[in-house]
Amino acid sequence: MTDIYGITYDKLKAMLIEIGEKPSRADIILPAVYGEPPAALDSLPLKKETLEKLSGTFYTGELECIKVLTSETADKYLFGLGDGSSVESVLMKHEFGYNVCVSTQVGCNMGCAFCMSGRLKKRRDLTVSEMTEQLLAIRRISGKKITGISIMGIGEPLENLANVLDFIEIMMYPKGLDIGIKHITLSTCGIVPGIYELADSSTPVNLAISLHAPYDGLREKLMPVTHRYSISEVIGAARYYSEKNNRRITFEYVMLDGINDTDDCAQRLSELLHGMNCYVNLIRYNSNEGCDFRCSPHERIMGFYDVLKKNGTGVTMRRELGASVNAACGQLAARQASPL
Ligand code: SAH
Repeated sequence: MTDIYGITYDKLKAMLIEIGEKPSRADIILPAVYGEPPAALDSLPLKKETLEKLSGTFYTGELECIKVLTSETADKYLFGLGDGSSVESVLMKHEFGYNVCVSTQVGCNMGCAFCMSGRLKKRRDLTVSEMTEQLLAIRRISGKKITGISIMGIGEPLENLANVLDFIEIMMYPKGLDIGIKHITLSTCGIVPGIYELADSSTPVNLAISLHAPYDGLREKLMPVTHRYSISEVIGAARYYSEKNNRRITFEYVMLDGINDTDDCAQRLSELLHGMNCYVNLIRYNSNEGCDFRCSPHERIMGFYDVLKKNGTGVTMRRELGASVNAACGQLAARQASPL
């Protein structure tokens, strides 16, 4: 049996042909199962014989919601998966709409020193339906219309790219959730071949790159993935992405007190990004228990900001959403063991 929420429009058409059904049935099935509320497969306006075949091939899966923590700006959801592991997602409440931050893996293998997800170690990639169902469950429970998606929850999406590409296609399906490509953002720690693959795919969504340091030596200590792909390789891939797709790249930069927040780091960052259609998003560090890093003081963040501005490098500061529900990456996961 196949979970219908893991299947793209084209794959569904191929599967319908395999079971001897017209591929055009996909145009009835998908709008219905992505409707609000979603229709049951056996309630579709199709012949009894077709419905029996569908019910024998597909089912509509649903994540079990274990816990919801709400705040004014963000709600955090903990979902149970079929194999006993769990995954977390966040509903972010912006003035302009509701955005869901989805996880792509159970745990993460990237080992960033400041991030809680790294301590969990990846257990496995999420399936396509497990990603789609994070969205559907949040839509159902919150009753909100979801207008944007951030693929920046737990896990490294470019290490699970085949599934993530199908997930994106499903999110964009015009008669389904119909989320526009400009409203989907994928965040990576800098998996260079994955950046090129996404750039050349049919769905080059907004790209955010977690840079966090302008020197390889420093970045290696914070983000071990730098041993695999140097900063200059990451920047090269970002330039390609931006030019090929005419996109503005976001560089995320988490402000760590006394580590990566000097004027010299800001100066170097401007030089690295010179001439690229991009901007830097300065992120306040959300402290983790048992972790030595602290967020830079406000004045230092402003000093760093000023150097970038003076150099003509685009820069913003992320509105702090979700801090009170421990929604910063990895903090979600790290609380799995303890009660939320
Ligand atoms: N693996 C992807 C997406 C998940 S992390 C990536 O690395 O981009 C999402 C963002 O949150 C990354 O920029 C990450 O570096 C950042 N992050 C992780 N822990 C954080 C914390 N405690 N405070 C603030 N940002 C954090």
